[in-house]
Amino acid sequence: MTDVPAESPPLVAHAAQFDDNTAIVMGDRQFSYRDLFEQSGRVAAALLDGRSDLQEARVAFAVPPGFEHVVIQWGIWRAGGIAVPLAVMHPPAEWSYVLQDADVAIVIASGTLFHGLLPVAAELGLSCVPGESLYERPLRSHLPPIETSRRAMILYTSGTTSKPKGVVSTHGMIAAQIQSLIDAWEWTERDVILHCLPLHHIHGIINVLCCALWSGARCEFVPRFDADLVWKRFLRPDDLTVFMAVPTIYSQLIQAWQNFTEEEKQAATAACQKFRLMVSGSAALPVEVLERWRSIAGHTLLERYGMTEIGMALSNPLHGERRPGHVGTPLPGVELRLVAEDGDEPVAGTPGEIQVRGNTVFEEYWQRPEATAGAFSKDGWFQTGDIGECHEGHIRILGRNSVDIIKTGGYKVSALEIEARLREHPWIMQCAVVGLDDVQWGQLVCAAIELQAGCDLGLRELRVWGKERLAPYKVPSRLKVVQSLPRNAMGKVVKPEVLELFSDS
Ligand code: AMP
Repeated sequence: MTDVPAESPPLVAHAAQFDDNTAIVMGDRQFSYRDLFEQSGRVAAALLDGRSDLQEARVAFAVPPGFEHVVIQWGIWRAGGIAVPLAVMHPPAEWSYVLQDADVAIVIASGTLFHGLLPVAAELGLSCVPGESLYERPLRSHLPPIETSRRAMILYTSGTTSKPKGVVSTHGMIAAQIQSLIDAWEWTERDVILHCLPLHHIHGIINVLCCALWSGARCEFVPRFDADLVWKRFLRPDDLTVFMAVPTIYSQLIQAWQNFTEEEKQAATAACQKFRLMVSGSAALPVEVLERWRSIAGHTLLERYGMTEIGMALSNPLHGERRPGHVGTPLPGVELRLVAEDGDEPVAGTPGEIQVRGNTVFEEYWQRPEATAGAFSKDGWFQTGDIGECHEGHIRILGRNSVDIIKTGGYKVSALEIEARLREHPWIMQCAVVGLDDVQWGQLVCAAIELQAGCDLGLRELRVWGKERLAPYKVPSRLKVVQSLPRNAMGKVVKPEVLELFSDS
């Protein structure tokens, strides 16, 4: 058995006991838990470069999903650093923001991402280390002890401000988030999960990757989500047991299935029988998607609710009735309450804000003490900003308490952040961004703009310009050019009226 030093990061210590089990599959390449352990030891040694401990230095890394990604994540943790995963599909402007905001000390990129990130890092006076160069270092006999109270990870999330905030979690919180899900969903080392989610978001990192590795299970990566690719993999006659995705992915799988021949449809339906669990989350699962998937796959999707700041909080049961349109009951270790506008507990069946407490809740917003303080109630509960109702103990999510937060394809985006970017366009005088409900995407990002006199801007041009500055899912997919935005007597833009401008689209 791999000799795991005492006080390794909890996930590493737990996973390393599985030794020869296959941990990661990428196409026809397989890697064991021992491979992960050994290679991450080399990465840790390389990052330490003679020092005894990275002492929570921030290490940003842009590495595609797969073995190398995990090796670098573990290497950072084992060297005592804070892992800051960068979204591989983000444009340089978004990377630059994260590198500056997190005050990153080391930047790692692999493959083609290296050439994209190198100039971004250089502009900030940072060097960019090719991931490949980290695997060649000899192992060290001693790595720093990692207490569970140490900061482990910063994930960037959009909120009601114009700038994304870094959500900091400790090793202990990550371990608590993982254990809660392992208990509730009964993960074991016999599980095999297909991973098609991004690795800069809590869903892909904790719910899929870390839960699989904690359990000694197998995590098989596809490079990115592609409905045909995923169906093709489902159809292979072997051992997938668990699948997790956002509602948009289930919609796209349904669409692809509809284009199959009768014979292909039957085979695809049969292939879904091998799974013991299919989960949906990160955005509301439309009941029509749940019903359609049930008729195709024979699975009632298990819908759960969570957030970068709190991990997963609510889940429908693994065994027992899953209620369409509901997100279930609190997960193990999660304390949850609803608070009505008057500050009291709402009458059953009436709305209140979801508030959460427990070991799974994040430590702080990185270097934003005021935002951190403002996110918690006086008596220490995290205020999610999500509004729910309780029906016989089961929670139903009604929406958010801010129109400025948009959920699209499972990503949370800030209307204010997009507006601030759009205003940088030389022709845009004013703009307002809203989310239009959509069965496939949850919401579509829609922008209404006032242009400088004599200028003309179409959606296609705006999207080309936007993609250089914003993550692809933040770029508006609907555009209305207006003479003047709807405003109230105070001159403030009235978002519900902006939304009406898109009601015909
Ligand atoms: P993120 O931090 O990006 O995971 O986004 C968290 C937000 O996603 C929550 O605050 C909710 O607004 C939303 N969300 C997550 N899961 C669900 C769900 N099952 N139903 C409705 N909204 C959800």
